[in-house]
Amino acid sequence: MAGKIVACPHCGTSIEWNQANRFRPFCSDRCKMIDLGAWATERYRVPVEDSDESALSAEDENPRLN
Ligand SMILES: [Zn+2]
Repeated sequence: MAGKIVACPHCGTSIEWNQANRFRPFCSDRCKMIDLGAWATERYRVPVEDSDESALSAEDENPRLN
């Protein structure tokens, strides 16, 4: 049962994906907490408002074709 090598989503460090690595897919507890913290910050920074969300996603997901 060879471990699969993956890159930490936060810092890019190669880590072995196995049962022993409880921080996977991150390389360490630190990267895990930083990444989750950034995600939470991102959520808080963008207030959820009815109209804004649909307007933004419409622009992002439907690029105009020429
Ligand atoms: Zn990392």
